[in-house]
Amino acid sequence: MKKNRVAIIGSGIVGITTAFELAQRGYQVSVFDQNQTPAEEASFANGGVISPGYVAPWAAPQMPKRVFGDLWSRYASTLISWPSWEQTKWLAAAVKNSNIEPFWLHRGVMQRLALKSQNRMKELSNQLRIEYERQSGYNIIYRSNKSWQSALDALPYLSALGINHKVMEPSEFSDLEPALESSTKWIGAIHLPDDEVANCRQFAIALKNECEKIGVEFHHKSRIAPLSAANPKSLVTSDQGVRTFDQVVICAGMGSSALVANLPIRLPIVPVYGYSLTALIREPLDAPRCGLMDENYKVTISRMGNRIRVAGIMEFSQKPHHQHPKAIQTLYKVLDDWFPKASDLSQQIQIWKGARPMLAKGSPIVSGTEVDGIWVNVGHGSSGWAMSCASAQVLLELMEDPSKSKDWPELALKP
Ligand SMILES: Cc1cc2nc3c(=O)[nH]c(=O)nc-3n(C[C@H](O)[C@H](O)[C@H](O)COP(=O)(O)OP(=O)(O)OC[C@H]3O[C@@H](n4cnc5c(N)ncnc54)[C@H](O)[C@@H]3O)c2cc1C
Repeated sequence: MKKNRVAIIGSGIVGITTAFELAQRGYQVSVFDQNQTPAEEASFANGGVISPGYVAPWAAPQMPKRVFGDLWSRYASTLISWPSWEQTKWLAAAVKNSNIEPFWLHRGVMQRLALKSQNRMKELSNQLRIEYERQSGYNIIYRSNKSWQSALDALPYLSALGINHKVMEPSEFSDLEPALESSTKWIGAIHLPDDEVANCRQFAIALKNECEKIGVEFHHKSRIAPLSAANPKSLVTSDQGVRTFDQVVICAGMGSSALVANLPIRLPIVPVYGYSLTALIREPLDAPRCGLMDENYKVTISRMGNRIRVAGIMEFSQKPHHQHPKAIQTLYKVLDDWFPKASDLSQQIQIWKGARPMLAKGSPIVSGTEVDGIWVNVGHGSSGWAMSCASAQVLLELMEDPSKSKDWPELALKP
C-alpha cells in the first residue's frame, strides 16, 4: 500500500537513488528536474570513482599549503580566481575544518557512507542487471616522499575499517598496470582492489528506468520555485502549476540553497568547479586496467568502456562556463605522464566543467529539517557518486524512524 506522496526535487544521482529507495518502500514518488534528462549537472561526466578507501574531505591538514603552492605553479590541482563572497567564507570555514580532528571525523563518516553505498550499488546492479561500465581496482600513486609517508602513516586506519589494500613499489606494478608509462617518476602506490570506477550518468539513467517500473513519476523540464514559508509542501512548478505533497525531499545539488531560502534552513553549499576530459581509447592494451589517482595533482584517470576519462581540479571562481587553460593543461599533463598512448587526442574529446555542490566539512547533509515534512539530501561535494546509494538509504531510514539520526549525527542539519 502506498504510504504517502513524496516530491523529490532533483534528478542527479542523489535524487534518483533517493527516489528508488523510497518507491521500493511503498512511497508514491514524483521527481522534478529543470533539465530535460537525468544527471545533466554535477552527475554528468564526473571521474566515476567509487573509492571507500580514498574518500575524504577536501579540507585536509595539508590543504592550505597545497592551495598556496598551486597559485604559482604551471600545473595545479586548485585554482582560485576571483571567488565569490560565499566561496571566500567557505574557504575560511574549510581551513578551520582542515584540522586533524574534524578531518578524521568527517573522513570516517564519508568512508562509512561510501562502503555502505558500494554494497548497495552492487546489490542493485546484480538484482536489476544494470550495466554501468564498472572497472575494478583503484591505484593511488604518490610522486613525493612526503605525501607517500603520510599515506603509509594512514594505513592502520584503512585496516581498521576493513578496507583491502596493498602497498606497491614501482618495480611491482607492471603486472597490475602494464601500460603505465615507465619514464614517469613516482615513489609508491596504494592498490585498493575492491574500489572501482564506473559511469555515474549511465547508472542514473538505468536506475531512472527501474524507478519508472515501480511507479515513480518523472517531470523533466520542470523548474521548482523557492519553497514558500506559508506552504512549503505545495510546489510551484514551471510547467504544471501548484502540486501539493505530504513530504518534500530536496536533492537539488547546487540549486538546493535557493529552494530553501524562504525557510529557516541554511545550506552553506558553494560550487567548486571541476573538469573532465573524455576521449576514445585508441589501443586497449595501452589503456589503464584500474582507476588511477595521481595524488600530486589530485587528478583521476578512469577507463569507461571504450573511453578514457581524466578528471579533477578544484576551481573557486564565478565563471561556470569559462574553461581555465591551466585546468585543461593539468588534465592533459597527467594523462600524458601515465598513459600517453591510450587515446588519440586529436579527435572526439569531450571537455566538461561541472560544479561540485560542496560543504566545508566534507560530509553531506542527510537530514530532516525544522520545517515539518521537508527533508534534505545535499552537499555531496567531490564524492557524491560514491556516497549516493547509502545517502538515499539513510534518508529513508530517517523518514521511517527519525530516532535513527543518532546513528549518523554528523549528517544532521545543524542550526
Ligand atoms: C569534475 C568532477 C569530478 C567528480 N568526480 C567524482 C568521482 O570520481 N566520484 C564521486 O563520487 N563524485 C565525483 N564528483 C562529484 C559528484 O559528481 C557529485 O557529488 C554528484 O554528482 C552530486 O549529485 P547531486 O544529485 O547532488 O547533484 P546534481 O547531479 O547536480 O543534481 C541536482 C539536480 O537538481 C536539479 N535542480 C536544481 N535546482 C532545481 C530546481 N529549482 N528545480 C528543478 N530541478 C532543480 C538540477 O537540474 C540537477 O539535475 C565529481 C564532480 C566533478 C565536478
